[in-house]
Formats: sequence, structure tokens, C-alpha cells
Amino acid sequence: MIDEAFVTAHQGNIAIARQKAINIFYSMAWGIGQPQSIGLTDRFLFQGYDVVFNHVNFTVDIAPNSWNTGSNTNEWAINIRNYWNSPTKRCISKDIMVLFTGQSLGIDGFHSDCNTGVSICQPGVLGSSHVVVVRNQENYVNTAKTLAHEILHAFGLGHLNEILTDPQTGQSYYATVCHTQCALGNNNDPPALMCVHGGDIKFTSCDINCIDRFFTNNKCICLNQQFGSFPDDFICPPPDNVYINIVGDRPNPVIGCRIGEDEITFG
Ligand SMILES: [Zn+2]
Repeated sequence: MIDEAFVTAHQGNIAIARQKAINIFYSMAWGIGQPQSIGLTDRFLFQGYDVVFNHVNFTVDIAPNSWNTGSNTNEWAINIRNYWNSPTKRCISKDIMVLFTGQSLGIDGFHSDCNTGVSICQPGVLGSSHVVVVRNQENYVNTAKTLAHEILHAFGLGHLNEILTDPQTGQSYYATVCHTQCALGNNNDPPALMCVHGGDIKFTSCDINCIDRFFTNNKCICLNQQFGSFPDDFICPPPDNVYINIVGDRPNPVIGCRIGEDEITFG
């Protein structure tokens, strides 16, 4: 969803602001405007993982700027999470709640699991609490890179060049051997996506290690295709006496699924 400041940053026009948010989303997912037109969907596919990024087009509400209390980003994330977990929205399937903001945070974006301490799609954990906030940047391609970076935190990926300190020796060291792919001027390649300050939408061998772990840990079952859009006045149906049609496609995006074996339909 978008907040009041994001609308202000787009001539105060809600329709323009929403279109911009969708453009950012498509650039992240499908690579529109990105180098070689490659987004996260293709990057996952190259590794054999079929991940569907579906946005929930819920158009009624603009997030109030006041959700950002200014004291810490986690409080902001919890306000976003609480909105999506309210009784009229709880039935909407979502793995990650994304807010596009026009407020300046001092950073380009952040990810919060709202203190659950687990990555998305943990077995037995129902209802994701993962929130991503991205700042409106000078162009949608850069904002989409930030969005991709923050989403991968929800998959459990950390920073390639995070500097850690050995508690025994006090020595500092980089979190991964892939940190060299974050060094500017090291070669002509732009930094990789999961560097501390972000980069192009591409994976290093360290990222792929984490991604393989994520998908081999029975977590992919919840990454199913969800509702594509909702009408402006959508509210959850009452729980009783409702005829529901559900089509679940590709609930298990793993290597080697036979065509159709992963489709279920309930009437
Ligand atoms: Zn990060």
C-alpha cells in the first residue's frame, strides 16, 4: 500500500501514486527497466525456483503518515502489520506486506518480521508478519532494487558485506566470502543485490546457498498464488454459509514438479 507522503510526492494524485507503486513492483518482479530486464522472478527461475510475486490490489486505504512514530522502524512495521491483520483484512492471503512511503527515513528501506524471529513460510506459522517499507527514490528502477533487497531479507538472506566482530578476539570480519562483490571499483560490475547498500538484482553464490536452504526446508508450501486483486469495497465474507471457490496453483514451487500435479481446486 502507499502512504500519504507517497501520494504527496506524486502531485497529490492517488491514481498516479498507485500506478508508480505498481511500476516499482513490476520492475522488482519482472525486471522492467532493470539491467537485461531481469527481476527477482527470473533470478529465482534461473536457480530452479518458481516464485510468483502477486500484488494484492487493495485500493481503498492510504496509510497515514502517523504509522511512522519516528522512534523506531519496528513500531512502524507493527502498525502496518496490525492494519493487515485487522478483522476485515485478515482473510486476505499475503506473505509480505509492502508499504511505499514518501517519508524520508535516512535509509532506502527496511524489512521487519515484527519480532517473530522467523523467515516467511515457516512450517506451522500461520499468517505472515513480514513487513517491507521502501522509500520513494529518484527513479522507480532504484526503488525496485531496494524492494527486491528487502524482500530477500524475508527469505532469510543477510548482507554479504556485513561486518561482524569475533567476541573472543575482537577482530572484525565480513559475514560472507562474497563481500568482494560489494566493493565499488573492484571491477566494472555493479554491487550485488544483498550488499549492505544494495545493488543490482543478481545473486552471488552466497545468496544462492541461502535460497537453496530456504526451499529445501519445506517452507515453499506457503508461497502459493494468491488473489490478484480486490474491489475497492472488499471486506472479508462472514465465516458461515459462504460458498467459496479456491484455486490453488503452484503451491509448491520446487524443481521437477510435473505439470498439473501441484494444482488443487476446491468448490
Ligand atoms: Zn538489507
